[in-house]
Formats: sequence, structure tokens, C-alpha cells
Amino acid sequence: MKVLVAGGAGYIGSHVVFELIRDGHEVVVYDNLSTGRRSAVPEGVRFIEGDIRDLDATTRALAQGTSSGSFDVALHFAAKLVVPESVSNPLAYYHNNVEGLRTMLEAMVKTNVRTIVFSSTAAVYGEPDKSHNGECLEGDLTVPINPYGETKLAAEKMIQWVAQAHDMNYCILRYFNVAGADASLRIGLDKDQLTHLIPLIMQTALGLREKLQIYGNDYDTIDGTCVRDYIHVSDLARAHILGAKYILDNDRSVLCNLGSGQGFSVKQVVDAALKMFEFAYEYAPRRDGDPAKLIANNQRAQELLGWQPQLSLEQMLSSDFAYRQKISTSSHGEPA
Ligand code: UDP
Repeated sequence: MKVLVAGGAGYIGSHVVFELIRDGHEVVVYDNLSTGRRSAVPEGVRFIEGDIRDLDATTRALAQGTSSGSFDVALHFAAKLVVPESVSNPLAYYHNNVEGLRTMLEAMVKTNVRTIVFSSTAAVYGEPDKSHNGECLEGDLTVPINPYGETKLAAEKMIQWVAQAHDMNYCILRYFNVAGADASLRIGLDKDQLTHLIPLIMQTALGLREKLQIYGNDYDTIDGTCVRDYIHVSDLARAHILGAKYILDNDRSVLCNLGSGQGFSVKQVVDAALKMFEFAYEYAPRRDGDPAKLIANNQRAQELLGWQPQLSLEQMLSSDFAYRQKISTSSHGEPA
């Protein structure tokens, strides 16, 4: 496939670029480097610095194609994704996640690139349907509880309407809790973006933080702490390639959850990490906006895309630790 990856210098985008290259595809990365890093783009991969909100620049990038022809598909990762930041600055989220996508879709229509793979999120569900015990199915109600989830839901709907009007196909992937780093340790989630549980555990294990705080132990769950579905970023990355192939081969669109299908409580994650590393933790009050349980039903991704998550929670913990150890010892906070 010939692929444009918008946001390909960021955490998830760069993992997808690595998997695409390993799988023999032709890739161009388009990124404004607002949170991504130039060094995350593998050598030999063409890089265009640009912003998806810039119609002319995005149209030019899409029109150029790869050295051997027009793009078959565009992958979209160029979004903001920190929930508390979206609450304090919703306008930035609408500008980036909604207006940015609108501009990119306009550029795609202009250049006749009619296939998009889009990263969405479990945050579109809001509080999961009570009758499913924390499990989310793609057909469930979507009632986001923060601006981040709202902008992603608006984006999903925009893609669906535009696809209908302009004869396009899409693969929308709703991510659950993504963690870990590529086995090469060349790329990972960087340290200034950290609000997520696993990187914070690893920073504590590395002595960069004194104690991990567990937010709330009075939820209606197995041990009172919140339950989430953790998925390794490399498993997630492979699903994008399968998703792109599925829509190109079948000339149809798809929307599916991407999670392991298994729930772990915060305490279970902490206990798994304590078997591997030493660190201190304490219980703290609940964090605003945290639903008690969020677990993916991943049947659709398994059946339609032929996707199976392969990497375990322990592999997410150990690879995140190794990456974080690597960046904490390099002078600029970047992997050597
Ligand atoms: N969490 C925690 N301590 C932390 C960070 C997160 O107890 O320092 C909890 C958080 O309240 C949630 C779970 O870990 O229940 C996963 O949170 P994260 O921010 O990793 O992902 P989210 O599910 O919010 O997208």
C-alpha cells in the first residue's frame, strides 16, 4: 500500500509507521511536530512538516503521493488526546481534532484519496451501558463526558457523512488504554505527556516520582479500583494495517473497538508491576470523570479484520519501563 500517515511522528503514529515499513509498504509522514519528534520517523521514510489545518499544504502533500504513485490510503493520528487539557481548553480540541480533520477530508476529496483510517477512542462511549458490566460494543450509545470524547465523536460522524457524499471508505478504530513501546525501544510515549497509569508507575519505579497515587478504591469493581482494558501499542499498530487492507480489499467501511477484551483493575496493574519492579503507592481520592469500568468487546475487530492482540500486560509494563529508562538516561529526554 502507498500510505500517508498524518501525525506519524507521534506515539501511536510512529508505531504504525514502523509496522508499515516492516510489512513492506510505502510511507510518507506528514506531521507538524507539535508533540511528535522528527527522530521518531525512521531513516529513509519521506517526512513532510505540515499541519492538517493548512488546506494548501495538506492538499500538496496528498497530491504528491509516493515515488511510485498516488496514495491508496491516508491514516489520521494528528489529534490532541489529553482529557484534562480538553476540559480546560476545549477550543484547542475542536480546532485540532474537528477542524483539522475537516480540512484533511477536504484535501482528500480534492486529491481523490478516498480511503481513511482514523484513530478514535473509547472516550466516545462516556459511561458504558450499565447492562453490559463495563463492556463496550460498537453499537452502544455514545455519550462522551469530556471535550476530548466529544471532538472524536464529532470527527467520526463527519467522516461517515463525508464518506457517504464523496464515495469514500473509512476504518474508524476506537482505542482503549494503549501502553508499551516498540521492542526496538526507538519510539515510545514521551515524558512531557504523562497522565496515564503505566508510564506513571514506571516513572515511580525509576525513582523519578516518590509515590504512585491510585485514584479511588471505592468503585463497584473487584477491588474498588477502576478497571480498564490495556492494549500494547504494537498490537494496536498492526490493526491499522489490517484495517486499511480490509477496506481496500472489500471496498467497504468499518468501525471497531481495539482493546484486549480483558479488564484489569488499577490495583491488579500495580500488583503485576510490583512483581517486576519496586515502588511505593498510596490511595488517593477519585479523579474526576473516571468511569468505574471500560472494557472492549473486540469481536468485530477479530472477525472482520482478522486481528488478535498478542502482547500481554507484562510486556506492556516491561517495554514501557525499558523505554522510560532509556530516555531518562539520555541527555535530551530522547532515545539515544
Ligand atoms: N490512574 C491512577 N493513578 C495515576 C494515573 C491513573 O490511579 O497516577 C487510574 C485512573 O484513575 C484510571 C486508570 O488508572 O482509573 C487508567 O487511567 P489512565 O489515565 O491511564 O487512562 P484513562 O482510562 O483515563 O484513559
